[in-house]
Amino acid sequence: MTQGLFEIDSCDANGRIGHFKIPRSNKVIETPNLLPVINPKIHTISPSDLSSKFGAQILITNSYIIYKNDRLRTEALEKGLHKFLDFPGAIMTDSGSFQLAEYGSIDVTSNEIIQFQNDIGSDIATPLDIPTPPDVPHLIAKNELKTTFDRLNSSQFLLNSKMLISAPIQGSTHLDLRELAAREAYDLGFDIFPIGAAVPLLTQYRFHDLINIIMATKRGLGLDAVVHLFGAGHPMMFASAVAAGCDLFDSAAYALYARRGSYLTVQGTEQLSTLDHFPCSCPICSTYSPSEIRTLPSKKRESLIAEHNLYVSFEELKRIKVAIKEGSLMDLVDIRSKSHPAMIDGYRALINHSSQIERQDPAIKKTLFCVSLESSSRPEVLRYHNRIHRFKVDSNVLLTTDNSCFSSDSHNEVWHIKPPFGPYPIGISQTYPITAEIPIEPDFLSLKRAADGISILVELHPTTNFTFSHSNWPKQILEALPLNLKIINSST
Ligand SMILES: [Zn+2]
Repeated sequence: MTQGLFEIDSCDANGRIGHFKIPRSNKVIETPNLLPVINPKIHTISPSDLSSKFGAQILITNSYIIYKNDRLRTEALEKGLHKFLDFPGAIMTDSGSFQLAEYGSIDVTSNEIIQFQNDIGSDIATPLDIPTPPDVPHLIAKNELKTTFDRLNSSQFLLNSKMLISAPIQGSTHLDLRELAAREAYDLGFDIFPIGAAVPLLTQYRFHDLINIIMATKRGLGLDAVVHLFGAGHPMMFASAVAAGCDLFDSAAYALYARRGSYLTVQGTEQLSTLDHFPCSCPICSTYSPSEIRTLPSKKRESLIAEHNLYVSFEELKRIKVAIKEGSLMDLVDIRSKSHPAMIDGYRALINHSSQIERQDPAIKKTLFCVSLESSSRPEVLRYHNRIHRFKVDSNVLLTTDNSCFSSDSHNEVWHIKPPFGPYPIGISQTYPITAEIPIEPDFLSLKRAADGISILVELHPTTNFTFSHSNWPKQILEALPLNLKIINSST
């Protein structure tokens, strides 16, 4: 168990395409990635199909369910986990923490279940952590975190095995505890950091809290830490979670939702019972109509919907990878955030962390689309404002919103204005991020952010005479500009 197994190939915002080495089965998995959850007792889709049909590189199963069942335990110990499940990729195992959260107690110790995971040949084991739910008092969350840490510490007896051990990050909704837990776990030398107890936040659509927890966890971790959002299997939130820095997801949702006839989309969840058409072209939706699937026996119906749910989940991860390569991940987050008000809350929470994201966000991308109010607060705008001090200015400068103006008799330099960035020297007009595509009529927030850029420039150069020529900008924005700035309305 050593750090240094994760190599980052491309990044955008805090999202990364990377390669993660799994020493025990000598596999390399690409991130971001999805681990379908396999119930050892019920294979809604067989593990071999997960590999051959869906290209799943890694899956997750529950070692406690295997441990508790005499037949399964004997078979897994004899055959080894990979043959037992008939899966050629990497296998991560969970510990029974879910059962602990559901039923209050389980009859195995953390070290016993870690040892069992090692004995059956797991690639990535999970200690028996305490999944502290959201909103519990700080003291309770802190005490439970201590128990989780004691168990993490005691699991180090397997440090030298080839099996990786994940370090679940708990702390309820207390961001200081999440950051502390992440820092301590990272310092102990673990490689995978599952963010625990996220499911209640996901089911309650508390994406705002979830993003804040991810960002707090990321603050405590090094860049080479692989972050797994435990229990997150709905494709609608993959883009925002990846942009916040999550590398792995696991999905029981594909099977659980299918069991109740729920059909996943990147915009949300539909019910098979109400669909006349499938808004998807995966092999299932191209072959069957909703009415045809409704008439099938329940097991077959469940299996087909589960397959669609997985296709749409893997497809979204591919789309996210394309977006990371293009530098358009935040554009995708913007689009996804329009599917539900709670998703907008999550997006706004994300851009509230623009200064944290900006540290890892590439400085140069292909282009940038400003398509919403939230675009004005993106990390790229913050970075531009942070770099305005690098520009040299002359003594008498015209700042104008008229992009056809290139000289002025009464000024020795002309700069243009581009919302939401603000002022820029004409010479960089073809340089990122000034090449951003913006609407012809910028919104109020975009103008306000441009005015922030003007204020930064003017205040950095108190001896320069600046004149700002605009076309009917809102009075409220103009009033916030520095008093020593001469302002002209070119439309009057
Ligand atoms: Zn489909």
